[in-house]
Amino acid sequence: MSAPHILIAGAGIGGLTAAIALARRGFAVTVAEKRTGFGETGAGIQVTPNAGRVLDALDLRLPLRRSAVRSERLVVRRWRDGRELVAMPMSPGDADTPFRALRRTDLHTVLLDAARSLPGIRLSVGRGLREVEQHEDGITATFLSESGQAETMQALALIGADGLWSRVRDLSGDSAPPSFTGYEAWRTLIPVREAPSGVGQVNLHLGTSHHAVHYPVAGGREINLVLIRAAREAREGWSREGEPGLPEQETRQASQALRGLVGAAPAWQVWSLFDRPPAAMAKGRLALLGDAAHPVLPFLAQGAALAIEDAAVLARELSAHVGQGGGAAVPVALAAYAKARQARAARVQAASRANAHNYHLGPPLSWARNLMLKRLGPDGMRSRFDWLYDWRDED
Ligand SMILES: Cc1cc2nc3c(=O)[nH]c(=O)nc-3n(C[C@H](O)[C@H](O)[C@H](O)COP(=O)(O)OP(=O)(O)OC[C@H]3O[C@@H](n4cnc5c(N)ncnc54)[C@H](O)[C@@H]3O)c2cc1C
Repeated sequence: MSAPHILIAGAGIGGLTAAIALARRGFAVTVAEKRTGFGETGAGIQVTPNAGRVLDALDLRLPLRRSAVRSERLVVRRWRDGRELVAMPMSPGDADTPFRALRRTDLHTVLLDAARSLPGIRLSVGRGLREVEQHEDGITATFLSESGQAETMQALALIGADGLWSRVRDLSGDSAPPSFTGYEAWRTLIPVREAPSGVGQVNLHLGTSHHAVHYPVAGGREINLVLIRAAREAREGWSREGEPGLPEQETRQASQALRGLVGAAPAWQVWSLFDRPPAAMAKGRLALLGDAAHPVLPFLAQGAALAIEDAAVLARELSAHVGQGGGAAVPVALAAYAKARQARAARVQAASRANAHNYHLGPPLSWARNLMLKRLGPDGMRSRFDWLYDWRDED
């Protein structure tokens, strides 16, 4: 009997993790990616333990160790003088799965290498999903190549891992577009030899209407720096080169350490930040995961983490139901997946939005926030996030 076939649209972090998790449970998986290559854009990414445990269970611990930096502390600082408000412990010595920070390209390469090594996975680039039809016993999806050539594929289910502007989400009947948040993210990677000293941990600088995060990546050879600032309009396209001089202007009243880091940045890429309410995560034989289902603002470092969690739960539910009931059980499996994920995804989205508000407060509310952070202290701060970082899949 041939392996049950699942089709995934999108070879980002969520789509590749889902493919690996499904293939390891005996599914045949096709991942169709719209772009003609697998390059990842963006600078760094934090992989918190809730997602890291999923990757470790997929046997990725070793390849991750080669490029990831283990984050020990998150130091929250005042914008204007860099004074430490609180330092949250991240990876205690006995942590089996640490907080990790790495370049997005390195994480994507780890996933891509793992997917390529599994015989059950077929990767197909330059195929953008256009249409899908659901039948009694499966789906037929139509993809368009860059040259406009149509190709159809059949499977038991279609998983939309196609990001914020998801076509699968549109096709499942939810066409309310993402809305611009009024913020943009400026991202850069700085060679550590060019950076001022003392930037070895995860640092978060809180200012009025802006904040900055930086942490080492690439085995400690580079510093990832993200500057979030208010912007009147969204920029067109997914990412744009940033105008020189603007980050310096934005940080002119920041601490010397942050200004030094900004001054060392070779070039910037800019992302306009969009929000979108959570979607129904399953409809018959269609399911959504990651940003396609619930884009998360980057104020909690959880967008990719949620996509990775989704992938684990999706694979488990499909395996449990299809193992017992065959292809006919797919809609039940996807409904169980949606039920298992919806509340958590909504909670993470809400927590991230709350951070967007709290991070950017101005005086006098920022004084009250800073006092609260100091009172919480390192352990109080960490325990506020137990619900987030201590998540484990059921098996
Ligand atoms: C500044 C910033 C910092 C961030 N930092 C963190 C962090 O530290 N930790 C964290 O967990 N998250 C972070 N995130 C969020 C994270 O980047 C996203 O949540 C994550 O990339 C979502 O993964 P995904 O696989 O769902 O979607 P994507 O990464 O968007 O992948 C979607 C894929 O689908 C493809 N695609 C699109 N349309 C189609 C189609 N029609 N057919 C086929 N393929 C298609 C795309 O080309 C792409 O490859 C950050 C985001 C930003 C902007």
